[in-house]
Amino acid sequence: MNNSSWQPVFPPGKDYKKDVFGKIIKTGQFIYQIGESENLSKPSREVSIDKIKSPKFKSEIKYLKECMSKYRKITGAGRGITAVQVGIPERFSVVYMPEIKGKLLIIINPKITKKSKKLLKYPEMCMSAEPIIAPVIRPAWIEFEYYDEKGKKRYWKTKDMNKNGRIYNRVFQHEIDHMDGIINIDKVNSKELVLLSDLSYYEKAKFERA
Ligand SMILES: [Zn+2]
Repeated sequence: MNNSSWQPVFPPGKDYKKDVFGKIIKTGQFIYQIGESENLSKPSREVSIDKIKSPKFKSEIKYLKECMSKYRKITGAGRGITAVQVGIPERFSVVYMPEIKGKLLIIINPKITKKSKKLLKYPEMCMSAEPIIAPVIRPAWIEFEYYDEKGKKRYWKTKDMNKNGRIYNRVFQHEIDHMDGIINIDKVNSKELVLLSDLSYYEKAKFERA
């Protein structure tokens, strides 16, 4: 038997994978990955209103903001991070919103008060489970109340359905899930998961009616 004509067929994205996995090695130094902390799969504690004004909490917020900025510097992407992902099992997140002054929005103790009946499917990545892409089905929008970093009660009621509006409504749901110990991949059949190996993936990603 002559097998000399056989050639292995390699999987796609060789160079890109090097790049993606190289970045994960760096971000994994300050962001807990699935399996590294039990807290990632447990509900986090509410932040007491007294605590919001304390110096300790201010340094926790500062640290979470720094982690968000560091992550964005390394990867050029990333929309939201929740305290439990950096080892603080408390209910607050930082969301990157270039449209607002300061760019980073802090949400503390968010409570969802309303959800859209319309569901949308969109591929999501999580800083704690990279580079897995999970096409998650979620309500198109939510309304929620939360506290800002000064302890003032605020409301999110933006149902603007341009692409940015859809993404923010999704990012908030993704981060609130983290506070409840749920990760995007928990919501998807494992057969639907994909590893990122194509740079143009997110340029092609679309919201689909589910
Ligand atoms: Zn996440």
